[in-house]
Amino acid sequence: MATTTDPVCGMSIEESAAAGSATHEGTTYCFCSPACEHRFEAEPEKYASGDQ
Ligand SMILES: [Zn+2]
Repeated sequence: MATTTDPVCGMSIEESAAAGSATHEGTTYCFCSPACEHRFEAEPEKYASGDQ
């Protein structure tokens, strides 16, 4: 199973267990909760620029 990191809170999650996902500039990000997804969508550049 693939794991990924929620870019908002830094939590490691399984992609299949993600509460939501969003695509920004061709990269898909997964989130542990709808709250993290909403924070990412509000400011994607802030979170997407971290470890990519
Ligand atoms: Zn999160």
